[in-house]
Amino acid sequence: MIEVSKLSKAYGKLNAIQDISFTVDEGEILGLLGPNGAGKSTTMNIITGYLGKTSGKVTIDGIEVSEKPKEAKKKVGYLPEIPPLYTDMTVEKFLGFVFDLKGIELPKKEHIAEIMKTAGISNVSGRIIKNLSKGYKQRVGFAQALLGYPPVLVLDEPTVGLDPNQIIEFRKLIKSLGKKHTIIFSSHILSEVSEICDRIVVISQGKVVTDEKTSDLAQKFSGAPKIVVDIQGPSAEVCQALREIEGVLKTELISEENGEVKIRITHKSNIDIRQNIFTVMAAKNYPILEMGKVELSLEELYLQLTASSENSQNNTEKTGKRGKK
Ligand code: ADP
Ligand code: MG
Repeated sequence: MIEVSKLSKAYGKLNAIQDISFTVDEGEILGLLGPNGAGKSTTMNIITGYLGKTSGKVTIDGIEVSEKPKEAKKKVGYLPEIPPLYTDMTVEKFLGFVFDLKGIELPKKEHIAEIMKTAGISNVSGRIIKNLSKGYKQRVGFAQALLGYPPVLVLDEPTVGLDPNQIIEFRKLIKSLGKKHTIIFSSHILSEVSEICDRIVVISQGKVVTDEKTSDLAQKFSGAPKIVVDIQGPSAEVCQALREIEGVLKTELISEENGEVKIRITHKSNIDIRQNIFTVMAAKNYPILEMGKVELSLEELYLQLTASSENSQNNTEKTGKRGKK
């Protein structure tokens, strides 16, 4: 449905994005995840035809965006980072205005009523937009994107500034819309993306660092499984005994104190070694005080993936700039 191919954008000397490529299938919810300044908004602005690219290509439903921006825009509902609202209009007037602008061929009154219901803003239809809370403004921006039910929705950090209840509602809404629409959703919050999205593209410093199905992501990066044990016994002998267990790849001594050793064991993924650890240590009469699996969380993975960018000076500067936009 959406194909982004080797997309690059430079602002003067700054390469905001470089060679970004990914595809989004019909009906898929894709999460564009990355720290501030990573290039999410730039990517989305180009996909939706609101910003020119430096090089590369974007097609939506086979239409090249830069060649036929009008046609492409018809396929897309866009909620930019800062929603474009005419804040002196009432909610209903504003949606009517956008309806006309988009040239939507549906019964106007009914359609707007339906969209307002979906976005949860029917109760504020007659209110002037500027008097609404941030959460409601965001919903109006969202309603504006949803008008005409475009097949593609592009939502740039739609939950920023919402309170926790609103965030939960919004996520539900996006999930339900994912059944009928193809959605690109950006966020710098991993948990949110992993909860809503089928697929996650992580961008860092303007480049794609990961493109994975959400379900595969943690697994792929966790590598060989690990177990941490606390055992009462002499470290050298305990480690030696552990290494002799079938499937154990590596042991690392984490700490040793008062005759108690903490050891991290890396083992083959197809073998559960816990029972053997117990049997071997019991035979030697070294009590196991604690034993637990170590799993690399998605959170840790994300930190690892984006660590280099967070540390680089270049990006510190980027992050600063972005905040003021
Ligand atoms: P994100 O949405 O992931 O936070 P952006 O796409 O907004 O990232 O920004 C990517 C980089 O491009 C940042 O370094 C930002 O400062 C820079 N940038 C964004 N917009 C502009 C602009 N109009 N002019 C110059 N630099 C920009
Ligand atoms: Mg952004």
